[in-house]
Amino acid sequence: MKEKGLLIVLSGPSGVGKGTVRKQIFSHPETAFEYSISMTTRNPREGEVDGVDYFFKSREDFEALIQQDKLLEYAEFVGNYYGTPVDYVKETLESGKDVFLEIEVQGARQVREKFPDGLFIFLVPPSLSELKNRIVTRGTESEDVINNRMTVAKEEIEMMNLYDYVVENDQVELACDRINAIVVAEHCRRERVEPRYIKMLEVE
Ligand code: 5GP
Repeated sequence: MKEKGLLIVLSGPSGVGKGTVRKQIFSHPETAFEYSISMTTRNPREGEVDGVDYFFKSREDFEALIQQDKLLEYAEFVGNYYGTPVDYVKETLESGKDVFLEIEVQGARQVREKFPDGLFIFLVPPSLSELKNRIVTRGTESEDVINNRMTVAKEEIEMMNLYDYVVENDQVELACDRINAIVVAEHCRRERVEPRYIKMLEVE
């Protein structure tokens, strides 16, 4: 039987740079895990492509997916729905590949309940002022949305205890290196490796 892939969940407060870190990780050709493209009801930002950055859905379609149990997790975040397609995640894990989710904290909590042996990584900003800076300089959000996102972000940082690892996003490349190192270490964890050796010994 094929060994199942690892479910890697990257989460953290709004504006911490999860998207940037995730894109940087996947820009490296040696990255062996699969990115799960999320569904959302928010409008595409300039340059975003349907089926690449997100699957952009109407509220009606998204709610139908919730009803049909097609989402591993979903959350309403600053007025829009975001969710992870369950079939893609399950099939990819079954095929032995690692799946990488980049999601906000309410969703990560739901995934933790369903996949307790997933790998949960929390990305944090070096400071709160740095976080606000990043949200403001992204320049895509109105003042109200920025303030709302800061309030949400502070509450989100308090949810750190849900995670296995905390990675500071001081520099994107360094944060990516730390995440990759954590994934490598997780694959070497005795609890994950041992069943394979127990089987080998049974055959001998
Ligand atoms: P943005 O609108 O900036 O692309 O994303 C807003 C927030 O939604 C970010 O924190 C992002 O990580 C999160 N997000 C993206 N996809 C998903 C998803 O499938 N589920 C959940 N719960 N959050 C998501």
